[in-house]
Amino acid sequence: MTSAIYPGSFDPVTFGHIDIIKRASKLFDSLTVSVLDNKAKSALFSADDRVKMLHEVCSDIPNVRVDSFSGLLVDYVRENSFDVVIRGLRAITDFEYELQMAQTNRKLLLQADTVFLTTSLEYAYLSSTTVREVAAFGGDISLFVPDSVAKEVYEKFSKQNGEKNGGKD
Ligand code: ADP
Repeated sequence: MTSAIYPGSFDPVTFGHIDIIKRASKLFDSLTVSVLDNKAKSALFSADDRVKMLHEVCSDIPNVRVDSFSGLLVDYVRENSFDVVIRGLRAITDFEYELQMAQTNRKLLLQADTVFLTTSLEYAYLSSTTVREVAAFGGDISLFVPDSVAKEVYEKFSKQNGEKNGGKD
């Protein structure tokens, strides 16, 4: 049994992430998609909300489970005896950071070997940051995220805008 972990912010999950999840789930016996709850980084969605959205979009993939963690990835890998860490690569700009992280993690824990899946070309441009930026100005994000996620993103921005206007709109 080879178990893999795909860690990330998933703020929110995009079609690019889902593509990596589907492909990784075919390569390993089990795949855990885990939301990094990084209190030092301000996120649009809480870790619980990100887990909920991931649950919804992964529910039809049998060997995938969704979880969250905080702290060091290597500690989480050790505690759960994962065999492989999955990360996605979109462009050369991802590579430097990802290489450094993979090497650091392996130095800290030999077991934490990282497998990189290169993006499918149709999602090479896509990031959670882009989705948040487009949605913040009311743009169409239906090409970037599933409908259930788009609904949550628009609701979040409309709530935030309502709060900014002191609920006067
Ligand atoms: P991070 O974990 O760096 O905060 P994300 O949650 O956005 O970033 O992404 C988690 C992982 O998924 C990273 O390895 C990232 O490179 C990868 N990823 C994000 N978007 C895509 C995409 N469109 N295609 C392939 N991989 C992606």
